[in-house]
Amino acid sequence: MTIPFNKPHLTGKEAHYMYQAVYNGKLSGNGEFTKRCQQFFEERYGFRKCLLTTSGTDALEMCAMLCDLQAGDEVIVPSYTFVSTALAFLREGAKVVFADSMQRNPNLDAETLESLITPRTRVIVPVHYAGVACDMDAIMSVAEKHNLLVVEDAAQAIDSYYISRKSKVESRKPLGGIGHLAAFSFHETKNITAGGEGGLLVVNDERFVRRAEIIWEKGTNRAEFFRGEVNKYGWVDTGSSFLPAEINAAFLWAQLENLDEIQTKRKQLWNRYYELLKPLADKGFFSLPDIPDYASNNAHMFYLVLPNLEKRTALIRHLKENDVLAVFHYLSLHSSAYYVNKHDGRELPNCDRYADTLVRFPMYFDLTLEDVNYVCSIIKEC
Ligand SMILES: *Cc1c(COP(=O)(O)O)cnc(C)c1O
Repeated sequence: MTIPFNKPHLTGKEAHYMYQAVYNGKLSGNGEFTKRCQQFFEERYGFRKCLLTTSGTDALEMCAMLCDLQAGDEVIVPSYTFVSTALAFLREGAKVVFADSMQRNPNLDAETLESLITPRTRVIVPVHYAGVACDMDAIMSVAEKHNLLVVEDAAQAIDSYYISRKSKVESRKPLGGIGHLAAFSFHETKNITAGGEGGLLVVNDERFVRRAEIIWEKGTNRAEFFRGEVNKYGWVDTGSSFLPAEINAAFLWAQLENLDEIQTKRKQLWNRYYELLKPLADKGFFSLPDIPDYASNNAHMFYLVLPNLEKRTALIRHLKENDVLAVFHYLSLHSSAYYVNKHDGRELPNCDRYADTLVRFPMYFDLTLEDVNYVCSIIKEC
């Protein structure tokens, strides 16, 4: 039997809550389950305002709209990321300036960040790759110095933390709660899902709260009307239909109720991979995932970095022959067909290296420790 790369997990309560949502007779968005999910995030992580969206991409598009960009404004985005991170800002007329990854892991390199800033720079978009934090103290201080907005792409980063040591006091900050705005994804490949597709917009800066609700509700002040704050509602701004139907929120609620159990199991699997592969990494066959001392691990992904493309291709092929599906990840966005002619020609060598050499292994709730033992034995054999 093949071990797939990903398999969505069902907690068992999804259909029950979806039935409840249907039976309540309130099917459209912003009902009871939507409110419950949003409140969950606001209370558990202290996020100022949360709005469920139909995808992580939509949450990023809302972020980009809230940044209120003018044509020619520049937005700094890592090149090693999913298309949506860049596309959301490009659609708003911004010029995307691609940043390289760090040497040690695929995250945006905070040390070279300042060299990319021009008088037109407006936004920095750190992506917490594999749920591992970017160096947020460094990024936020660059942003403050140049008066820039920070939008966290926390699509992979649910229940993960940045450990700040500012002025020698250690504090844990949840990812998605540090930048002015943030986006999470509940796509079926993420740690929890809203039934296939889903996302969350997080607003941490009070200035954006009201406008976020309006953009979410097709440019109307409908949310204020339902709270009784205004006596009629109408068209007041730009927007779109970003809110998911209640059955998706009901599905997500079943997953949120089990978040701790899901996270515990995923970390167990991740740690087993790490322990079994460490001896081979010590011998120099590949490098293990890097988790800096300022980051936590949410076990979104287990990956290795191979010495070159040929070795990675051989490993993926060998695993496939033994019924294990391992996959590579992003291709550099700065050299994509759509962007290559718009890119300023800078080389981004770390990004290109991860595009060629990073490989991801099966990681999902229903995977067993025995499965991980088997995958690691095949890697060893190769
Ligand atoms: C998954 C993902 C997205 C997009 O989320 P969707 O819910 O699939 O739209 C954006 N950025 C990153 C880094 C992701 O991993």
